[in-house]
Amino acid sequence: MHDRAQRTTRRAGSRRAGRFVKNTAALALLLAGCTSIGTHDPRVRSTVDFGPPDAVSLCLYLDDGVSEERARGLVEEAWSTEAPLYGLRVKVTGVTRWHRPAFTMDGILEALSREPLRPGCDRVLALLGRHVGDFIWGLLPLPEALGAVDDDTLTHAYAVITRVTINQIFLSPRNVVRHELYHMLGCPEHFDMEGCYRQIAALKRWKLAHQSEFFPAWDSVKQEMLVSRESVNARLNSSGP
Ligand SMILES: [Zn+2]
Repeated sequence: MHDRAQRTTRRAGSRRAGRFVKNTAALALLLAGCTSIGTHDPRVRSTVDFGPPDAVSLCLYLDDGVSEERARGLVEEAWSTEAPLYGLRVKVTGVTRWHRPAFTMDGILEALSREPLRPGCDRVLALLGRHVGDFIWGLLPLPEALGAVDDDTLTHAYAVITRVTINQIFLSPRNVVRHELYHMLGCPEHFDMEGCYRQIAALKRWKLAHQSEFFPAWDSVKQEMLVSRESVNARLNSSGP
């Protein structure tokens, strides 16, 4: 038990470190005036075979005040420029009402990770409105967590989509959603578009080769593919408190 506790602590520590890195990178993005997960490299992308058109099924969890129409429109807008690059659509296959459970990024991610992937959902994206605490947070000279993804499976992410603070003037809701979609397609790092292209292609290739109905996920901690909803849900449970 002790060993298990130690392992859990270490894992939580490394997760926190990972999030810190992602937040710091988000701040760098802000300061650079750049709003994407990296800079596209068409030359490298043209060397990657993305295979035939396919789709990933996205289930939306919507906070109070976020309408289904706005949420669907935002996902469409966020991915419309990217879908043709990879032959990969993001298809909204479910909408669930979900009251924002916490103020902090860790609190939100922990609650979100307790939501299993249900049949028909390859990924879960929560779209959140503003909490009064976010406004105060936004006044501080700190990187603001406008979005994050779980490191263990990269299947559960959230994005704050109500435009209120200074940070969001530069990082529009559409860009935050696009950023989290990239993470959910198996790209854990920022500024590694080549790795991201190869990852998207590899996940698509696996799905096609195995005639899988599920779009596989990527465990960015163990560096391995998760090829079923059951394995994603088991991984989420094993990384819980
Ligand atoms: Zn990120």
